[in-house]
Amino acid sequence: MISDDNFEGADLPGETAPEIRLRARAVSRGVAIGMIVCFHGANRQFYRIDLKDSQIEHELKRLDKAIGVAKRQLDKIVSRKQGRIAESGPGIFESHRMLIADSSLQSKFEKEIYDQKVNAEWAIKLITDVYVAKYKAIEDEHLRDRYIDIEDVSDRILAALGSTPAAKRAFAKDSIVAAKDLKPSTLVELADHGPQAVITENGGWTSHTFILAREMNWPAVTGVKRILRRVKTGDLAIVDGYGGHVIINPTRETLESYSSEAARFHSGLAAASAISSGPVKTLDGRQIRIFANSDAPAVYRKAKTLGAQGIGLYRSEFLFNRFRGFPTEAEQVEAYRVIADAAGDGGVKIRTFDLGADQLLDQNAAREKNPALGMRAIRLGLGYKKLLRTQLRALLRASFGRKIDIVIPMISGVSEIRAVRALLEHEREQLAAKGKETGSPLLGAMVEVPSAVLVIEEIVKETDFLCLGTNDLIQYLLAADRDNESVAGWFRTLHPAVLRAISGVLKSAANAGKPAIVCGEMAGSPYYVPVLLGLGATELSMNVHSIARVRKIVTGVALEETKKLAAAIESLATVEEIEDTVSQHLKKNWGHLFPQDFSFSS
Ligand code: PEP
Ligand code: MG
Repeated sequence: MISDDNFEGADLPGETAPEIRLRARAVSRGVAIGMIVCFHGANRQFYRIDLKDSQIEHELKRLDKAIGVAKRQLDKIVSRKQGRIAESGPGIFESHRMLIADSSLQSKFEKEIYDQKVNAEWAIKLITDVYVAKYKAIEDEHLRDRYIDIEDVSDRILAALGSTPAAKRAFAKDSIVAAKDLKPSTLVELADHGPQAVITENGGWTSHTFILAREMNWPAVTGVKRILRRVKTGDLAIVDGYGGHVIINPTRETLESYSSEAARFHSGLAAASAISSGPVKTLDGRQIRIFANSDAPAVYRKAKTLGAQGIGLYRSEFLFNRFRGFPTEAEQVEAYRVIADAAGDGGVKIRTFDLGADQLLDQNAAREKNPALGMRAIRLGLGYKKLLRTQLRALLRASFGRKIDIVIPMISGVSEIRAVRALLEHEREQLAAKGKETGSPLLGAMVEVPSAVLVIEEIVKETDFLCLGTNDLIQYLLAADRDNESVAGWFRTLHPAVLRAISGVLKSAANAGKPAIVCGEMAGSPYYVPVLLGLGATELSMNVHSIARVRKIVTGVALEETKKLAAAIESLATVEEIEDTVSQHLKKNWGHLFPQDFSFSS
């Protein structure tokens, strides 16, 4: 019997492996049945690929090339640090260089590729695991810690492998991806393979990975402790993204009961597109504008059929994943034109890169202890102006004849807005001097840092519109990491501080007659929408799959009634009281729209 925090269920007698039920946190709706594929690696994620004989030669060459790249990187680092190394004895990177130069390590990787007929990534993992286990068993503390160097060197080779074309293997359509953490870029790479569902150990409802999973309509759950020790590639599993369960080796009865759930989920997807489109009005006639959070033209076209009136948030950093690095000015111009053409008159609000230093710069050069509080978003843009200026030029050029506006992420006050405006004007003049045509994008600020809320009056004066990024606003106001499942209980959307912040921002924007679009995940959740309307939100931007559900809520409630709800919670001191009052109100006043057994704590 497995005794573990997530363990719920039964060991059933029989010849086959027993059914195991694991509790999880549902973060993307739906039910899926499929075969587990385990993903490993932190910076560069990978899974086992079984090669054909004809692919082995290519794989050995990939490995050799990657080791060459890693060696050259280390040579460069060591020579840059030469002076300091001489002072402090043999440096860390010197020992990494020695490790990688040891031809027996490469031979071990090669042997594994050859004998096991697996991809280079998998071979590196197998050998590294053996080394790490050996080192961890050593008593001498100093020697024991050398496993970290082994892992570091492996990570470097894995990262280098990422830039060489990987062996092609059809990723089975019914796969369920299991990982400790899953990076958004991995998810984007998987988009063409269309796995059925995702299970992870870490991540939160508002982490980019699950925002993407919802956008792609893949059921997802998180919070499954030690997932990679509990499942193996090839296990049959069910992911229940409604109730928050993972079932490994399901019995025939379980499988049958979930097969109909899975079929319902897929037919529900088809039905959603049949929901009516057109303007969205509350019961008492107040128009609420709905936008899509989207970076894909095809996705926006679908959103438009459901009534989206433009793209409220285009996360341009997703281009970074697509291009596997910083896209050139020409690539950006093209991408922005394509999305603006899809958005048409509704227009698209393109957010400048919201990347962290770890994603943009050399992975080993920039490890920050607190990336969410570090060189991120506009700070990175202003710190590395060449990159920001390239993006601003691309936006200016693409906006000629197209409705493109610019949003700046992670604004802490007016200074960043002025700095960006100055750069924008400078680039406009430079482009004009070269005879290039430019448009006149409006400039907006993401309001997601608490200091921005406190100086919102000033920010409103210096911007054309606001985007309320509730995901980060909640994370920073409550000091609860949005990517960390273990503090999910502190990430409380209805915390009084969050509601007061939202209300203040919406009022300031309304008083100044400037638009404010709520574009965090809160805007796409039916349970929070009545609260947002009551607080004064009139523009909501969300993932395409939320539109039909949110439409149903908006058109089913009276604005007056939502104002009453907002007034009722305004003076409450705790998040528990607010959640309780809101859930009672939803059930009592809009019982036809919300399940009667609903509660925020479940
Ligand atoms: C937010 O922070 O709410 C937001 C919309 O942006 P992101 O989720 O990309 O940080
Ligand atoms: Mg944000």
